[in-house]
Amino acid sequence: MLIDSHAHLQDKKFARDLERVLERAEDAGIERLICVGDRVDSSRKAIALARRHPRLAATVGIHPHYDATFSPVSLLELEKLARDPTVVGIGEIGLDFHYPNCMADRQIEVFSAQAHLAGRHDLPLVIHCRDAYEPLFETIRSDPRIPRRGVIHCFSGTYEQAVQFLDLGFYLGIGGAITYPNGDLLRETLHRVGLERVVGETDAPYLPPQSKRGRRNEPSYIKHTIKAMADLTDLSYQDAARLTKTNAIRLFRLPSPIAPEIAYSIRKTLYLCITNRCPNDCYFCQRCTDYMVMGHFLKLEEEPTAGQLLELIDNPAGYHEIVLSGLGEPTMRWDVCLETARRLKERGARVRLNTNGLGNLINGRDITAEMAGFIDSVAITLIAQDRETYNRVAKPEDPARAWDAMLEFTRKCKNVVPDVTLSVLAVPEVDVEACRHLAEDEMQVRFRIREYRPKGYSVSECVG
Ligand code: SF4
Ligand SMILES: [Zn+2]
Repeated sequence: MLIDSHAHLQDKKFARDLERVLERAEDAGIERLICVGDRVDSSRKAIALARRHPRLAATVGIHPHYDATFSPVSLLELEKLARDPTVVGIGEIGLDFHYPNCMADRQIEVFSAQAHLAGRHDLPLVIHCRDAYEPLFETIRSDPRIPRRGVIHCFSGTYEQAVQFLDLGFYLGIGGAITYPNGDLLRETLHRVGLERVVGETDAPYLPPQSKRGRRNEPSYIKHTIKAMADLTDLSYQDAARLTKTNAIRLFRLPSPIAPEIAYSIRKTLYLCITNRCPNDCYFCQRCTDYMVMGHFLKLEEEPTAGQLLELIDNPAGYHEIVLSGLGEPTMRWDVCLETARRLKERGARVRLNTNGLGNLINGRDITAEMAGFIDSVAITLIAQDRETYNRVAKPEDPARAWDAMLEFTRKCKNVVPDVTLSVLAVPEVDVEACRHLAEDEMQVRFRIREYRPKGYSVSECVG
């Protein structure tokens, strides 16, 4: 259930009891550990450990503190090590301008040479960066040979810096520092960016979480960090564990399969993925990228029947809500929606429909009349404030009728469903205040804004 994406298990502090440390990691639910090198020798040791333990993978690189050991010979050695099948990344490399006597130019040179190596081997970067975020941005942006794929290990910057890294394509590595009394800035940043591009890490044997301060850090302590991340982002522990794990699998291309799901939970809500089809084609839809939503993979192998969906739900009344959803437009399969909703209601569930509001157009009749008694709430994606913007953003199959159909559907839902919401994803094209006016004043329904997060970690409007 968990991945520790950054630990130095080859450190001599683990020499005596590594087997027991790994057992405790397994007991804590850690499926995989990335053993990170910081010099040529420790990289070699990381590989040796990863060869012995199937749960381990290795990274190789020279940390900025050991720049003095970098030479054409050590680069050649790293080049050789990078070919080992256990190696999943280049690092820990980076910039550390913390000490006044640091040699900035030399650090940039050493970092860049190793980053180019990562590019040649199609491997992600594991970046250590202290007091050097701006020079790091500058270095990455000015050099097309540096891959824009990797993790900013032990991230400790501002929200604006986090967004810049995410925009560049990087993940943020979050460890024990999130639990420290002086970690308010980091907690504020994480609260705002969420976990969609975050991996969990311990940096063991360093930086233990607050409750273990003063001790040697070890992978099993990652639980405390994951719990803190969950609390900060209003997610359950399982949500935070799953998200950080799937992020690590994707970042390092680990061989763990990510299985598609048709029923998946986030917090106390259960979502049912009815279809991947939709008559719209919004550019921000997760269907355009990777079908991942909050660590769940929603690309259907085949569309589920109502029976298959219901079989997966032991106790419908135990959820806060059960949502008929996508990734796609559920009313494309209205018969399945109705059958599922009817049987869930019989078993005491509260049922919501997440829709783009085109159900009447899709089905060629007024389906809202069929919702009475089965659907408790409907969340409709307004997408934009007017027809022209709607057509530009959503690219509907039927641009002449989609906008009016969505508004008419909203009006009709109000007659039969107690709770109707219009929502927008605040993409740059959208005038959020005009949308609010349309929803609250004209349509007289609830209005919800979803923050649009920059490239690489936005979430399709239809799933939340
Ligand atoms: S975001 Fe929603 S309406 Fe837009 S294409 Fe995706 S599923 Fe369809
Ligand atoms: Zn480290």
